[in-house]
Amino acid sequence: ALSDGPSAPAAPASQPAPLVQPWPTAGAIGAEERGLLQSGDGIYVVDAHGRQLIDGPAGMWCVNVGHRNAALADAMRDQAMALSYNSPWYTTSQPSDALAEALAARAPGDLNHVFFTTGGSSAVETALRLMQFANNVRGRTEKKLMVSRQGGYHGSTYLAASLNGRPRDQDWMDGAGSLVRKLTSPDPFRRPAGMSMAAFEDFLVEEFRALIAAEGADRIGAFVAEPIQASGGVIVPPEGYLKRMRALCAENDILFIADEVVTAFGRLGSIFASQDVFGVEPDMITFAKGVTSGYFPLGGVMVSARFFEVLRQSNHPDAMFAHGLTYSSHPIGCAVALKNLELLEGGILDHVNAVSDHFQQSLKRLEALPLVGEVRGKGLMACVECVADRVSNNPLTLDLEVGKRIDAHCHELGLLVRPLINMCVMSPPLTITREQIDEMADILYRGIAMTM
Ligand code: PLP
Repeated sequence: ALSDGPSAPAAPASQPAPLVQPWPTAGAIGAEERGLLQSGDGIYVVDAHGRQLIDGPAGMWCVNVGHRNAALADAMRDQAMALSYNSPWYTTSQPSDALAEALAARAPGDLNHVFFTTGGSSAVETALRLMQFANNVRGRTEKKLMVSRQGGYHGSTYLAASLNGRPRDQDWMDGAGSLVRKLTSPDPFRRPAGMSMAAFEDFLVEEFRALIAAEGADRIGAFVAEPIQASGGVIVPPEGYLKRMRALCAENDILFIADEVVTAFGRLGSIFASQDVFGVEPDMITFAKGVTSGYFPLGGVMVSARFFEVLRQSNHPDAMFAHGLTYSSHPIGCAVALKNLELLEGGILDHVNAVSDHFQQSLKRLEALPLVGEVRGKGLMACVECVADRVSNNPLTLDLEVGKRIDAHCHELGLLVRPLINMCVMSPPLTITREQIDEMADILYRGIAMTM
């Protein structure tokens, strides 16, 4: 296994060692029997046996407006009939121009430039290459280290995957690990026993400050962070953490890149969450998934005018950012995204804000089950974390197949869950009603009870 980098700071002493577990293969979760889906409608999907299931994870945190949305299907068809493709290298299209303007108007501060990609990994990859490029053209060729966190997930391309903080994402793979430093996950549930939240927040910030001091600010190019670590188990950081990490970045000329691939486009009740939910203005925001509600592969990076000014002033005569994807700013994806934005702003965001408390409270009830160590979350994303016992809260001695067994029971009862070893992550389509939330929580309760 690769280490997390030569000078990755040590985790707090009482933090348990991370889990090491390979991804289950499709076969291991019984794809042939349960994994084959034949249709979807609203918050439901239908499996190969005709069984209707609540889509608990909304696919992969992405089917935000729900399945079988006719307006999105029409937008896709209409754009395919109008202009099915254009080269993003030499031309542009009406939907991509309109989407760029719409996103610039909604992004925080001066994040008014956008580079469209094909998904989340390519968005993060683009952001990191932009950082490398910018520091090269302004002569800061040593300023390239990338800082991420344990428990983070940023994608499966080379640089993006190197930032991932789950050991299984690095095992068996070569990565750009020597360019990456990883900080402790801001996971309150796993903070050292007896440590207050305020002290934990201080610890996390001081850990970053110490890293900057040890490496030198002129060697660190970017800090990349999901505002809420999603695949790491819906880790909601301590209250002031993101603002303080952002301030440290600003003081040290380190780009703060918010990876909003999951948190943007409604999951937390706003288009972009960094500022609206956490009060932070990043230098770049990466997005994907919910931007098209998963109907078309599209992602992108919002880039600040400040950053562009740095590039403009450096004005290197030979420098060209030679980076582009055949399907960047695909006109069909952009047309779908525009319609999706209209749907989100036409009532879905308000709905999310209206039902989020109910969603969190309904799932919180599951803490009554002895197997459940914690239920946590924000907006319409939550995680139910199972533990071996509630005194140690230690997941390590627990049967690591527990998530899969909960998934199997829930499937029988009518709910698709996303098992992550000892955790079930819930992030349903944003259109879910209060009654459907109750039904979802009830099935999950029964599925876990059957697993004990
Ligand atoms: N960033 C985050 C926060 C993600 O959750 C994901 C995917 O789950 C990615 C990046 C990678 O996105 P994609 O799978 O579209 O490449």
